[in-house]
Amino acid sequence: MNRVGVETVPDPTILQPTDAIVRITSTAICGSDLHLLDGYIPTMVHGDILGHEFMGEVVEVGHEVRRVKVGDRVIVPFPIACGHCWFCQHDLTSLCDNSNANAKLAEKMFGHAPSGIYGYSHLTGGYAGGQAQFARTLYADENLFTVPEGLTDDQVLFLTDILPTGYMGALNCDIQPGDTVAVYGCGPVGLFTIMSAFLLGAGHVIAIDRFPYRLARAAALGADPLNYEQEEVLEALKLRTGGRGPDSVVDAVGMESHGLGVGGLADAVKQTTRIAESDRPHSLRSAIISVRKGGTVSVPGVYGGFADKIPLGAFMNKGLTMRTGQTHVHRFVPRLLEHIVKGEIDPTAVISHRLSLDEAPHGYHIFKHKEDHCVKCVLDPWADSRPTGLAPGAQ
Ligand SMILES: [Zn+2]
Ligand SMILES: [Zn+2]
Repeated sequence: MNRVGVETVPDPTILQPTDAIVRITSTAICGSDLHLLDGYIPTMVHGDILGHEFMGEVVEVGHEVRRVKVGDRVIVPFPIACGHCWFCQHDLTSLCDNSNANAKLAEKMFGHAPSGIYGYSHLTGGYAGGQAQFARTLYADENLFTVPEGLTDDQVLFLTDILPTGYMGALNCDIQPGDTVAVYGCGPVGLFTIMSAFLLGAGHVIAIDRFPYRLARAAALGADPLNYEQEEVLEALKLRTGGRGPDSVVDAVGMESHGLGVGGLADAVKQTTRIAESDRPHSLRSAIISVRKGGTVSVPGVYGGFADKIPLGAFMNKGLTMRTGQTHVHRFVPRLLEHIVKGEIDPTAVISHRLSLDEAPHGYHIFKHKEDHCVKCVLDPWADSRPTGLAPGAQ
């Protein structure tokens, strides 16, 4: 089993004239970090620094940085954008052609390479992450967003990933006024998908999970909770939609979903042994089966490799649309900031734990095992005096 620990590492330095160094004031543990820790995303190396959700103060800039200044308080989107390639020019920043230093490796796996991502394996560049006291950020002028005065770290930290990810998950449903949207997974991304779905006009949002404390958070946001260990999802969704099924279904779970019955068990065995299948697509299968005919399946949940027994027959014969992708965070930050300032979205609603960086291994543990009603851990890298970085490594 892979291990997360806190270690002292050298401070990052400016390597390119377009870099900036950020002194991190807040950082968070993400579900994606668990996929990395569990080894489902390949190419993590002993000593890699995790963390792609971080913000702080700019303490140093390279000599070609113009817009960003020392002293700026900034959030750092998890995908790294060069700002100039075809994809960046088309607002598809998580697909940037220039920021992934290991593009060749990713091309072997995916055909084409996604952007670089901080703290997210060598498949996405091998960049040191932000579960640390300092981080080197790339293409600072294109990536660092200044935080308006008066907003706390807790209010803006999640603009780095999970808030735009939930928002894009809802946007990809092409919600029409009054639509019914079902959301698999009431983790942080699922909760932000629920908030965003209502913001975009959904009339009825059904939240699917198996942990009562997570369903309770979803219900507090106005969603209609459905515990898949107590009700059969397909029938329950039909029952709640007059037989038709939800207009769209969001898979906010991804590759480590827990399935019930023989199918789920077979997937778990195959995934654990890495035989033929790297992803457990139970929620994706269920999304395809339970969405209404002509509906949309939106997949903000992370997948890394190959999945078995995707019901393509249902997908084709029901005339479905599927939309997915790593989030184009940069595109959504301005409008989401506006929603936060106006009080239309409260990102602090997902925070369950505040820990020091030294306590990060505990944070990973309770988040992974759904203990202590953990939903989202925010880490303060300066809560104690020991200089630290966070590094996973195989035992
Ligand atoms: Zn994340
Ligand atoms: Zn680019």
